[in-house]
Amino acid sequence: MKSLPAWSVRHARPLFRLYAACARLAPRLGPVARLLGMSRTERWLIPVERSLKRTFFDCRMCGDCALSATGLACPMTCAKQMRNGPCGGVRADGHCEVRPDQPCTWVRATEGDARIGPGHLPTWRQPLSPIDARRAGRSSWIRLIAPQAGSAAPPSPAAPSATARDATAAEDSLIARRFHAGEFIVTVEIAPPDSADPAALLQRAAPFAGLVDAINITDGAGANCHMSSVAAASVLAAAGFSPVCQVACRDRNRIALQGDVLGAAALGVRNVLCLTGDDVSQGDHPEAKPVFDLDSVTLLGILNGMTERGEYASGRRLELAPRLFLGATANPFVPPDVERVANLERKIDSGAHFIQTQFCFDVERLDAFMEAVRARGLHRRAAIIVGVGTLSSARALRWMAEHVPGVHVPRHITDRIAAAADQAAEGRKVCIEIIQALRRIDGVAGVHLMGHRNEAALAKIIVESGLRPPDAARAA
Ligand code: SF4
Repeated sequence: MKSLPAWSVRHARPLFRLYAACARLAPRLGPVARLLGMSRTERWLIPVERSLKRTFFDCRMCGDCALSATGLACPMTCAKQMRNGPCGGVRADGHCEVRPDQPCTWVRATEGDARIGPGHLPTWRQPLSPIDARRAGRSSWIRLIAPQAGSAAPPSPAAPSATARDATAAEDSLIARRFHAGEFIVTVEIAPPDSADPAALLQRAAPFAGLVDAINITDGAGANCHMSSVAAASVLAAAGFSPVCQVACRDRNRIALQGDVLGAAALGVRNVLCLTGDDVSQGDHPEAKPVFDLDSVTLLGILNGMTERGEYASGRRLELAPRLFLGATANPFVPPDVERVANLERKIDSGAHFIQTQFCFDVERLDAFMEAVRARGLHRRAAIIVGVGTLSSARALRWMAEHVPGVHVPRHITDRIAAAADQAAEGRKVCIEIIQALRRIDGVAGVHLMGHRNEAALAKIIVESGLRPPDAARAA
């Protein structure tokens, strides 16, 4: 049973041609279906469709079939149900972050797409709409026969209106202002505390006062529970910092996500970074139910609609639209390589205006990625901010490379740090060299510093690498 979906991807070209021929013929059955009654026709179709698609594609009958746009690999077989490209945690061997014994669905989708031939359907490069949960278990074929059958599709993310968004968000977001002025951006990431006391959070942010353009607040990073990112970002905004509120799709459905982001905006948060999120199996509550109602691309589309058109995903009007500068993540260091830039473009098309990447320890690979980014002009549409950082020892770095999904650390880097007498100082030196190399790459708009509970070292790196003068630091 498991081998047939793999066979289908290997034979994607003839199967896709068969599908395309059937799709062309299907509307001719419309009059017969109407004569029999649409409900009755759908009742008959469902068991046939389920059995065939289950056998050949491991289909889950989501009712919003995207097979023809995803290289004949069913996106619902992805552990995070991502419909718009791979997550950032794909393993180096192309296997899934969550189910290491299986190939990543999007690695197979990329293979199927390549076999079908590039550009077979425009939807491959277009963001797909969020799934309509009411259609689960229903037939997708019935809508090929009679396109009006079934419930109305949820609205697609509208094309962003760049002029309107720039004019509003740029007034409020320091990242936006720096990007538009062509200045090098510096952001940093901190984890909110396991405490009900905001002082603990402010203490972590204090070393960066005056040194950075924004402070990212992670949202249950690694699927571990901490103070909410919305609350923590609001605390920072009230204290005069410029926070980036990270919002992950793992824990909330679209109703909760929209409400939380609106609340964050009401409390002074202006930058929101959309993520799909780590799977719950990675964290301290592996027994929790993962939500993944949206992926980062559909979340971006919805938040962009709130910001630009002043309406919820449902189309209901907001009394006052939030002024948000939206961002997303990218991981240029894991497979499938060919899909990484397409995925980035989809995020930018959906409303992302800044991109923060996974840790960069491999400048050559980043350079190659940026070449493809520049070829599509994406660096002009969004600020590409590259993740950098340091850990206190080679052992910690090795642990991260082995256990944190999507982190790629070349062997020569860990060997160099391991051989040093002062490993922490060598780690900082490596980070500074990487920052200096990144500044020379055309299209890199800034750096994003990360390092678990390593705030003092990160502040030191900002000054020692010349990103900010020592006197830029101010009392928080
Ligand atoms: S690696 Fe990520 S995108 Fe690929 S199947 Fe697993 S969860 Fe889905």
